Amino acid sequence: MYERFTDRARRVMELANIESQLFQVDTVCTEHIFIGILKEGNGVAAQALQALRVELHDVYKLLKQHGLYRRESSLKFQPRTLPCSSTVSALFDQSAREAEALGHTYIGTEHLLLGLVTDPGWSVRFLHGFGLTSEQVRSEIMKCLRDAAIAVAAKLSTSLPKDPIHSEEPAHMDLRVIREPAVYLVGRQQVDGELDLFLADHGVAWQSDTKVAGEYLAEAAGRLCYLSYARPRPGGNKAYLDHILEVGHGSVLEHAVWNFIFVRCSRSLTHELVRHRHFSFSQLSQRYVDESVAEYVEPDCIAADPALHALWLEAVAHAHQAYMTLVQKLQDSFADETDDRTLRRKLARQAARSVLPNATETKIFVSANARALRHFIELRASRHADPEIRKLAVTVLRIMQTEAPNLFADYHLQPLPDGTFEAVTPHRKV
Ligand SMILES: Cc1cc2nc3c(=O)[nH]c(=O)nc-3n(C[C@H](O)[C@H](O)[C@H](O)COP(=O)(O)OP(=O)(O)OC[C@H]3O[C@@H](n4cnc5c(N)ncnc54)[C@H](O)[C@@H]3O)c2cc1C
Repeated sequence: MYERFTDRARRVMELANIESQLFQVDTVCTEHIFIGILKEGNGVAAQALQALRVELHDVYKLLKQHGLYRRESSLKFQPRTLPCSSTVSALFDQSAREAEALGHTYIGTEHLLLGLVTDPGWSVRFLHGFGLTSEQVRSEIMKCLRDAAIAVAAKLSTSLPKDPIHSEEPAHMDLRVIREPAVYLVGRQQVDGELDLFLADHGVAWQSDTKVAGEYLAEAAGRLCYLSYARPRPGGNKAYLDHILEVGHGSVLEHAVWNFIFVRCSRSLTHELVRHRHFSFSQLSQRYVDESVAEYVEPDCIAADPALHALWLEAVAHAHQAYMTLVQKLQDSFADETDDRTLRRKLARQAARSVLPNATETKIFVSANARALRHFIELRASRHADPEIRKLAVTVLRIMQTEAPNLFADYHLQPLPDGTFEAVTPHRKV
């Protein structure tokens, strides 16, 4: 729901959620969002309200006048996520329209406040209580955006385009810094009854004790090589697969397949990842998908040093700003060539992406068999690998040790001097 929201806008919604519970209601309403904006305190919307001298205690006073103040200070607060009222859903739609009108692809606190003041009913009930009109709030937001744009331009020692809409974009950009990749295991196999049919046709009955389809299928494939379904040795699937690992009969592991989505990864990580030729990939397209939500992966060793961190942030913000400006200007320049907005966006983004750094966050769908996964873990959950991909490989290993222990339990994690881990196994490259 909040995918396009900036961190600050999300924080506003968290605060609004808490506020609605303190008000003892069962939905988040627009007045709670207004309070959330004020309590967040640092976003463009909060700055505009501060400049207009809207104070939190006056908001509470006004709500009292409207009979909406039921806030219990003695309430035993148990945080939970409440649904949003229908007026809040309408507010989100309006905020998205406000963002679009400004040429922004994300929703920030300023778009939420613009959405609120656009509703005449809301303005009459609340803004007029402060002696304000929606036009005054709108113009204060625009002023805050311009001031922030000038500050960013000064900081980056660069001149921003004169056009007011474009010049506002980098100013209130919430740069999200990511330091950990995340892994979703989204698909796994299942065994089909047809296998029993095959066994019956060949006069044998065989069952494996594993509940994991990948492990089951790998054993079934291995047993096919020697038609060894009848009278299996003791120890079940674990003993069978241990033997496969020991003798290095790795091809049978290729029949066990899983599907993952890796997110919060840098483009440099995925550039290394796609070198693994036995994985299958589908990666977020920078030609089609807008990169204006600024999410960048920062290496730990840079994050640990304040001076290096500041240098990194500045470089990333600069590149991001150049990307945004290039997209806008290229889109305008392609207006004469085609009426197709989607094509214009694609043409602009594919050229503008050339200035995006390796740190740009990306998402990638990966399908992999157990043999290829093991090889990946050995190369990348290693002390010699880049720490970012090492974190990813260790996360994948931890998931797979729970998911398919008979295929991955031989690895153990060994601590490294920097506090991270590497994976080691007696059965390398089966
Ligand atoms: C620490 C580290 C540093 C690296 N530095 C660099 C670098 O500086 N520059 C660079 O370009 N790459 C670099 N790489 C990437 C590396 O060269 C491999 O491309 C990557 O690790 C994938 O390994 P792979 O080829 O074994 O794996 P996969 O592609 O997963 O293949 C698995 C195995 O299949 C077999 N195989 C696959 N394709 C073929 C084939 N065409 N012919 C024969 N056998 C095949 C091989 O046995 C291979 O090991 C680095 C990797 C690591 C881990």
